[in-house]
Amino acid sequence: MKNNETEKRDHCIRCGECCLSSSPTLQMADVSLVYDGLIEKSNIYAIRVGELVRDNVKGEMKVTDKEILKIREKENGRGCIYYDEEEKGCTMYEHRPIQCRALACWDESEFMRVYARPKLSRRDVINDRNLLRLMAEHDKKCSYMELEKCVGQIEKEGEKAVKSILELLKFDYKIRLLIAERLNVVSAEMDFILGRPLTETINMFGLKVIREQDGSFFLTTVE
Ligand code: SF4
Ligand code: SF4
Repeated sequence: MKNNETEKRDHCIRCGECCLSSSPTLQMADVSLVYDGLIEKSNIYAIRVGELVRDNVKGEMKVTDKEILKIREKENGRGCIYYDEEEKGCTMYEHRPIQCRALACWDESEFMRVYARPKLSRRDVINDRNLLRLMAEHDKKCSYMELEKCVGQIEKEGEKAVKSILELLKFDYKIRLLIAERLNVVSAEMDFILGRPLTETINMFGLKVIREQDGSFFLTTVE
């Protein structure tokens, strides 16, 4: 995180560089912000166990062995969704997550202390039993371990393995519709509840999904 510029600082000049470079991961200490709706669930996405994620501390990609909840980044890739570039400020400054409070680009010690503490998970803020049951079913059926296993079998089993992958993608797609319809959950919250769709994250295996006109999925490799 440190560079020549930040090393010269001893206070925040509110340049916004940290908010423009990434978004925070939520820690257990942020539970009330989500529970009370100060951070909207539609602005959070879950990174599930086994998913590929950028470790901003180490500056490398890694497969996570723990669930992570992250604040969304803007679609143009310009940092945290809560950062207002025109106003040069955080639109939820009073209620910003603990990682943001701890961040001082000239001294990482407080951030690292906070970072080492327990992370928030979906089950800390969701208590609807029906939803929890469907989430557990989804985690079991559509785990990244299962997806990786199927991808690894493509070379040996060909079509059979592709069929298994398409089954997982279909399940992941349909359960989102089911949750929205039956449990009255807005679709904007689905990336928080189930993590990002497998049709997007499958690119971590060098594959991509094309949606056919009839709604079916077609699996191909990323060029
Ligand atoms: S903490 Fe963030 S906003 Fe403050 S000076 Fe450092 S990079 Fe800029
Ligand atoms: S929540 Fe606010 S302070 Fe934290 S990264 Fe986003 S814009 Fe910056």
